[in-house]
Amino acid sequence: MDSGTNPSDSTNEAQLRQLGDEVRNLQVSPLFAYRQQHKYRPVIGDGNVNAQIMIIGEAPGEQEAKQGRPFVGASGRFLDQLLASIGMQRADVYLTNVVKDRPPENRDPTVEEIRLYTPFLVRQIEIIQPQVIGTLGRFAMDFILKLFDMAEQGQKIGALHGKLLHAQAAYGPAMVTPLYHPAVALYTNARRQTLFDDFQILKQFVE
Ligand code: URA
Repeated sequence: MDSGTNPSDSTNEAQLRQLGDEVRNLQVSPLFAYRQQHKYRPVIGDGNVNAQIMIIGEAPGEQEAKQGRPFVGASGRFLDQLLASIGMQRADVYLTNVVKDRPPENRDPTVEEIRLYTPFLVRQIEIIQPQVIGTLGRFAMDFILKLFDMAEQGQKIGALHGKLLHAQAAYGPAMVTPLYHPAVALYTNARRQTLFDDFQILKQFVE
């Protein structure tokens, strides 16, 4: 029997497979019709399902939606370089997004879309139980600060990037590092070095 259909299979992989099936069938999503129309795929997550480091982006872009994998386009290539700079590969961390389907023309996700996909990201965090969560961009940062009811809520990414913040997750203490989104470095060269500098803080979590 496929372990995904076995209710006693509670491994992280099986739980994430189940979650993926639910997102695939999420017809109530305002992004569902757009996904079907373009033959896109939902993007659930990728990497090590037992990782100590979880990295959360905003929403899939076109390449990601075509392949069903996060960060495989231009910002993904830069993310690979950032990970390599701390001796890691994408297979060592778990990568996901706040919103699991591509918003049309890469527009910002709406409040309603974020609300709808929230339970899936919350479950992913509880399944993986990372020691540290790196948020890429302001949507992922705001999401995590709110989820963990952190004192830094409402602060700007310019003030928080590269800091290691203490949080209380449902499974115990966790750390949060807000980071700029790698896409900004593609347009603003100065942010490139900032991202390399900020990524260094994750090095201490490399096993
Ligand atoms: N940008 C994101 O935020 N996530 C992806 O998966 C790709 C680009």
